[in-house]
Amino acid sequence: MKYTAPRGTQDILPADSWKWQRVERVFRETAERFGYKEIRFPVFEETELFARGIGDSTDIVRKEMYTFPDRKGRSLTLRPEGTASVVRSFIEHSMGRGARVTKLRYFCPMFRYERPQAGRYRQFWQWGLEAIGSLSPAIDAEIILFSVRYFEGLGLERTEARINSAGCPSCTPAYNDLLRKELAPRLERFCDDCRERYERNPRRMFDCKNESCQALLSDAPSILDALCDECRDHFAGVEAHLKAVSVPYVIDSGLARGLDYYTKTIFEIHYTKLGAQSALCGGGRYDGLTEELGGKPTPACGVSAGVERLISALEEEGAFPNAAPGPDIYLVAGSDGAAELNVALAARLRETFSVEMDYQGRSFNKQMQEAGRMNARFVLVNQGEGGPLKLREAATGWEVSPGEGEIEKAIRDRLASP
Ligand SMILES: [Zn+2]
Ligand SMILES: [Zn+2]
Repeated sequence: MKYTAPRGTQDILPADSWKWQRVERVFRETAERFGYKEIRFPVFEETELFARGIGDSTDIVRKEMYTFPDRKGRSLTLRPEGTASVVRSFIEHSMGRGARVTKLRYFCPMFRYERPQAGRYRQFWQWGLEAIGSLSPAIDAEIILFSVRYFEGLGLERTEARINSAGCPSCTPAYNDLLRKELAPRLERFCDDCRERYERNPRRMFDCKNESCQALLSDAPSILDALCDECRDHFAGVEAHLKAVSVPYVIDSGLARGLDYYTKTIFEIHYTKLGAQSALCGGGRYDGLTEELGGKPTPACGVSAGVERLISALEEEGAFPNAAPGPDIYLVAGSDGAAELNVALAARLRETFSVEMDYQGRSFNKQMQEAGRMNARFVLVNQGEGGPLKLREAATGWEVSPGEGEIEKAIRDRLASP
C-alpha cells in the first residue's frame, strides 16, 4: 500500500514554501498598513451558513461543497470561501457595536470539490479582506487600492482594475426581466448550465466560461444602464475615489462574480501580461449579506483571491529570486576534533544567525558542496583546536580569519558594509 496526498491536494515542500511565506508576509504587511486585522475562523461551519450566505444558485453550493454529517448527524461543510464565515463571526461577536467599521483579513485554505487541473486544487488557499459597516464608496476604492498595492509589493506592477455594478434588490429584478426578454430568442444556443441560470438568475450567465456563451452575451443589455439612482451615485463615487488615488481602471459591463451576495460594486484586478487567465483577485460589495445571515442590516465590501494562482503568476513573471534563501552560515569541520567543537560553536552562533552544519561525518569536500547546495551566505571553516578559523562569503569570495570571539562581529560588519 502506497499512500499519496488525496486527489486535488498538494504538499508545499521547502523548495516552494519560502515563496508562500513571502506572499503571506507581504499580504500581512500591506493589510496592516491599510488597517485590516487578522481573523481566524473554523475550517468547517454548519452547511446552512454557506447555502444561505453564498447562495443556492451558485456552482459552489450546488456542486462543489465538501458536506458531511458529523457523529450526531449535523450537516457540516468545509469552508469553500471566507466571507460567510467572517460575517457569521461579525454577527456572533457583535463586532459592529458603536457603529464601528470592522476591517478584517484572512489567509487560509478553502475546500471545493472541483475537477482538479493545472493550478486548481480541491484544497486551495485564499487571501481576503472584508470591511463591514460602511456604505461609503471610499471603502470600495480602498479595497481595490489595497489589491493593487499588494501586487506591486510582490513585483507585479501595472495591474488593471475592472469594475462593474451588480445593482441592488431595487434595480436587479427589472434588469433580470430585460435580460430574459433580450436573450429569449437565442436561448437554445446557450449551454445547459446557462439555460438553467436563465431560469434561476440570468445574471449568472455572465459567469459562463464557455466562449460561445460569452459571444452570445456580447451585445446583452448592460446593467449599468439599468441601475437605480442610489446604485448609479455609488458607482460614480467609486470612480471618483479611484481617480483620486490614481488607480487605473476600466468599466467592464460583462464582469460578473460567481456569488449571489454581491450588490453595487464588483471588481477584478487583472495582470494583462498573463493573457486569458489574467485575473489576480476579485470582490465587491455585499450590503445584504449580514441581514441575510441574521444580523442587523450592515453594508460591507470585500476582496479575495487564490494564492496558488498568484504564486504561479509570480513565477511566470520571474518575481521571485532564483533560489530559496539559504542559511547565514554553513559551519564546516576541517577535522574530527573540529566536528565536536562545532556543536557548541553552532549553538552560540544560532543566538544571532541561522546556521547549518554536517551531522554525518562527511568529508571536507562534501561539506563544502553541501554549503553551496544550501545556498549558505557564509562558509565558516573550523580546523579544530588551535587552527585558524576561515570565514568566506560564498557569492563574492571575500574572506577573513576571525578569532573565535570575533565571528559575530566580522559577519555583522560585512552585512552592514554596502
Ligand atoms: Zn440599485
Ligand atoms: Zn454557458
